[in-house]
Amino acid sequence: MYDLVIRNGLLITAEGALDADLGISDAQIAALGLGLHGKRFIDAAGCYVIPGGVDPHVHLQMPLAGLVSTDSFRSGSVAAACGGTTTFIDFVTPGAGEPLLAALAARKAEAQGEVAIDFGLHMTVPTWHATEEQRLLEVPEVVAAGCATFKMYQAYDGVMLDDVALLRALAAVADAGGRVVLHSETGPVIDVLRADALAEGHIEPIWHEYTRPAQLEATAIHRAAELADLTGCPLFIFHVGCAESIAEIVAAHDRGIDIHGETCPQYLLLSAEEHLGGAQGALFICAPPLRDPEDQEALWRALANDELQVVSTDHCPWTRAEKTRRDFAQVPGGVPGIEARLSLVHHFGVNRGLLSLERWVQVCSTNAASWMGLTTKGRLAPGYDADVVIFDPAREKTISPATLHEAAGWTPYNGFSVFGWPRTVLLRGQMIVENEEYIGAPGDGRFVKREA
Ligand code: MN
Repeated sequence: MYDLVIRNGLLITAEGALDADLGISDAQIAALGLGLHGKRFIDAAGCYVIPGGVDPHVHLQMPLAGLVSTDSFRSGSVAAACGGTTTFIDFVTPGAGEPLLAALAARKAEAQGEVAIDFGLHMTVPTWHATEEQRLLEVPEVVAAGCATFKMYQAYDGVMLDDVALLRALAAVADAGGRVVLHSETGPVIDVLRADALAEGHIEPIWHEYTRPAQLEATAIHRAAELADLTGCPLFIFHVGCAESIAEIVAAHDRGIDIHGETCPQYLLLSAEEHLGGAQGALFICAPPLRDPEDQEALWRALANDELQVVSTDHCPWTRAEKTRRDFAQVPGGVPGIEARLSLVHHFGVNRGLLSLERWVQVCSTNAASWMGLTTKGRLAPGYDADVVIFDPAREKTISPATLHEAAGWTPYNGFSVFGWPRTVLLRGQMIVENEEYIGAPGDGRFVKREA
């Protein structure tokens, strides 16, 4: 007799579809089978039953240049839950001179008691100078604290690592058994292109795309892959947005390098033409930038072919007012998207025949859980956390700010109609969304230690 049995649904696991009941006891998946007996039942007739979504790349209440990204841990995690995501990974950004462990503790404290779903944190490696070399010694302690992934940047003043610093940091993380997630763009060259464009009076949003050419994304990946190989550090490329970058990842993988990558709904569904939408154009500024329709096709193919393994959101929301600036270079980067991810990938991937149902589950949940060291997440299998989404593939929804729980007040997917939306969501066996209504409480979510 299980605590709870979900019956009449079609279970979609990373391995395939299965017409079976799902038995849940003690907050874990206990059994998959027919005719399971439970103290309680949920009827999932006509629905898919899938592992809760894992979004390994979000920025909630992130400070940036005097602003703070619009979704708090509270609002952003509620939006994620309503969209079928039950685990997210956000970031620790240590201040100048701040010990990494102190920064980790502070960021954890901000989220705990607030979040609707479980969460982990990536440790951002600050720009290291020779005088700060002792910080490398903290890396093993950070891994031991359950923060096994380190975010590094090849662009942006303040966090950009040159190749020497990147090599040293990759080596330190590899020695500690950790892994690296990377923002890959050739920052120093982009900085020159941006300054030149501004000096020539080019301030329109489209110049954000013109000054971040795809080749500078791809060559950064090439260099990073070789450095990762020299150090033996597993490497995960964030927000891959163009065909050139896919080709570098495939080529590096073919050379035997331990490299994987993600893309995001904005790169799969939007193009740089959005920047030409007058006053709207600045809303779509994110880095790497949106590219061309041909890149979207390449990204869908790469997801289907396992050249890319994950769809995250890089959710980083700002209000319209915050996005309105005199020139493109002053616009805070990032777009919202934490809520509609599963539905967008289902509708535009599965419903268009580009992804199988099991591939949808892999890229939205299983693969990120596996690479990021979330050992109890991302699978409908005995012993895993009972993070479960009952997803109604026939539910039609037109996306707008009014239909979402995100706080930005706008969405890049405004007016998109999708078939398929999460109906009910369980976090470790507890119902937090019922018939599309959020019914959880702040602090339902916990910090999840991730293993190296
Ligand atoms: Mn990001």
